[in-house]
Amino acid sequence: MKKVTNPIRTAIVRKVVDENYRVKTIELECDLPKALPGQFLMVWVPGAGEKPMSIGNSNPLTISVANVGKVSGELHELKPGGMVSFRGPLGKPFNIPERAKCILVVGGGYGVVPMYFLAKVARENKIDTLAVVGAKTAKDIVWEKQLFTVCKEVFITTDDGTRGMKGNVLAEAQRLIEGKKIDSVYACGPERMMEAVARLCMQHNVPCEVSVERYMKCGVGVCGSCAIGGKLCCVDGPVFSAQEALSFPEFGKAHRDASGRRI
Ligand SMILES: Cc1cc2nc3c(=O)[nH]c(=O)nc-3n(C[C@H](O)[C@H](O)[C@H](O)COP(=O)(O)OP(=O)(O)OC[C@H]3O[C@@H](n4cnc5c(N)ncnc54)[C@H](O)[C@@H]3O)c2cc1C
Repeated sequence: MKKVTNPIRTAIVRKVVDENYRVKTIELECDLPKALPGQFLMVWVPGAGEKPMSIGNSNPLTISVANVGKVSGELHELKPGGMVSFRGPLGKPFNIPERAKCILVVGGGYGVVPMYFLAKVARENKIDTLAVVGAKTAKDIVWEKQLFTVCKEVFITTDDGTRGMKGNVLAEAQRLIEGKKIDSVYACGPERMMEAVARLCMQHNVPCEVSVERYMKCGVGVCGSCAIGGKLCCVDGPVFSAQEALSFPEFGKAHRDASGRRI
């Protein structure tokens, strides 16, 4: 019989945490020991659809969901004891260079979630992590407490100055890249932010990886919905090197919606 390589699994919801007015964290009664930071799940809500969600922790398996539409809205209705179906782990993970001693993670909005997982794994491997977290305003910051448990230092920035330094993540990232010995940089969040971080790292000759979000349908390289720069975000990414991401004409500029229209 043919081996099924991408089965759907179902797990019970253990805990739901309200992070803020639009983000909830969902912790499942299951571990995914093979999952690596940067990988994602295709989370299926019967009748609503299937959407990629970054893995925030593999043990216990945890995702964080911003309520912006159909599937995310349904996930926000979940209560402890409810069920979540998913495929994964899928996609390429972040790479930490051998002999790295200190890495920098830069997260914007719910992009902080996979950064926690990366910092946790770095810490298990005795690598220090510095984190820069950016948000529009204080109430948009998520997973701050979790980051403090795994990072050496955490720096917060908000666009309106309601928490941490006023402004975006770039100035803080630049200060750290120029002032400390950082072996590599990782960014996840709004694409313009990632583009700026990628360019900064290229200027300073520091290896950098970014996690690119595109509209996905199959998650396994079959349908082509998440094409970007001749690559498929689901199987060639979502993690790309700064060089590769910056070579994509659409990176930081345009997305495609469910119909494939450029937006
Ligand atoms: C690799 C990867 C990892 C992801 N990780 C996460 C994650 O950890 N947490 C998470 O919440 N989402 C994550 N997403 C986004 C997620 O997969 C969905 O796109 C999002 O939840 C919207 O799906 P929906 O069915 O709720 O909305 P839809 O019904 O498809 O869209 C409703 C409306 O919301 C808009 N919209 C879609 N996405 C967003 C968005 N991110 N912000 C604002 N408006 C949006 C659409 O353009 C549309 O107008 C990830 C995407 C990728 C590709």
